[in-house]
Amino acid sequence: MSGAASQERVYLDYNASAPLRPEAREAMLAAFDLPGNASSVHAEGRAARALMEDARAIIARFLGAGPRDVVFLSGATEAANLLLTPSLRDSGGGADELWMGEAEHPCVLAGHRFPGERTRLLPVDARGRFDLGALERALSEYNGRVMLALQAANNETGVLQPVAEAARLVHARNGFVVCDAVQLAGRGDCSLGALGVDAVFISSHKLGGPKGAGAIALAGRGLHIEEPLVRGGGQERGARGGTENVAAIAGFAAAAVAAGREVAGEATRLSALRDRLEARLLADFPDLAIFGAGVVRLPNAIAFALGDVSAETLLMALDMAGFAVSSGSACSSGKVRASHVLAAMGVEDHIAKGALRISLGWATRESDVDRFCETFRKTIRDIRARRAGLAARKIV
Ligand code: PLP
Repeated sequence: MSGAASQERVYLDYNASAPLRPEAREAMLAAFDLPGNASSVHAEGRAARALMEDARAIIARFLGAGPRDVVFLSGATEAANLLLTPSLRDSGGGADELWMGEAEHPCVLAGHRFPGERTRLLPVDARGRFDLGALERALSEYNGRVMLALQAANNETGVLQPVAEAARLVHARNGFVVCDAVQLAGRGDCSLGALGVDAVFISSHKLGGPKGAGAIALAGRGLHIEEPLVRGGGQERGARGGTENVAAIAGFAAAAVAAGREVAGEATRLSALRDRLEARLLADFPDLAIFGAGVVRLPNAIAFALGDVSAETLLMALDMAGFAVSSGSACSSGKVRASHVLAAMGVEDHIAKGALRISLGWATRESDVDRFCETFRKTIRDIRARRAGLAARKIV
């Protein structure tokens, strides 16, 4: 990373949040100077509105939607809260049940406005891929209308999900598909057309935009949100009340432009870095378990474990050594908990407890990866040596 304060540290946790891109910072600083409320009719209000509508056009292009079908809100968690409801309807009505992949992000798994008895979890296989066969069987035995919530890529393992194939199966039964494309955004094509879904949502801070902004895009076809979550002054065409956060939206759009411009080149650059990291880790630790190995994954991420060292110990040791990485386990409010994703993949508990996730991004350099590999090797060697020393002392 650049910048004096961050020179010593190496940030390898982009799937949690990406550093702010300079383009996003610049756009936000300019927007902060606009005093107007985007709903006001005076010149200042119109200037704020114009900035926001420019941003809407950018995000609409990014997601392959019409600008009128894009809703700005606070992020992906709010997007899931808003979309996962029987009141997401078209002329034929809403869904009777919400089906979700077992490896979805907790913000989706909450199920939101579907009562528990109208939700169903569908499995992933041992490599973390959503099980299309299970979906096909479940659909053939069900007569109602289904909303499937399926992520484009998993935040812990980086495994890409067969969203377009799943959508074809669900559409053949008159259902809807909502896609959490948070981790694919900026790393691959997350447009409605490429994913083949009815609604998609993304989050600004995973792209290098500010935290606290996100967007939903609806595929049109008469699909609309009948009951908003946040009611108020009718902003966002009635889908989300409240004065819009124009500066965050401007930063989000600037980040999307930068990420979109680089997407193909960055995918190649990051997958080369990730492969270098993976090869060096495997050379040092041939018994390393890599989650999702052998299936298509995001270019920037790797999740792995050594069976004998806990993620908590490693996270702390690496943090002290200057590296920000993440546990493969769901980590909310700073607490490391067993990962539901690895459990769904059938990973044994003692292995899952050692899972680490390294995720790279726009500011990651080859030297960061090399420094990480050296430090990781040394850290494991020290932990094991300390443990062997303690064991020897016990025997004596
Ligand atoms: N979905 C996925 C796959 C994520 O990785 C995250 C963030 O960790 C979210 C949803 C939630 O995003 P937000 O922070 O915008 O609420």
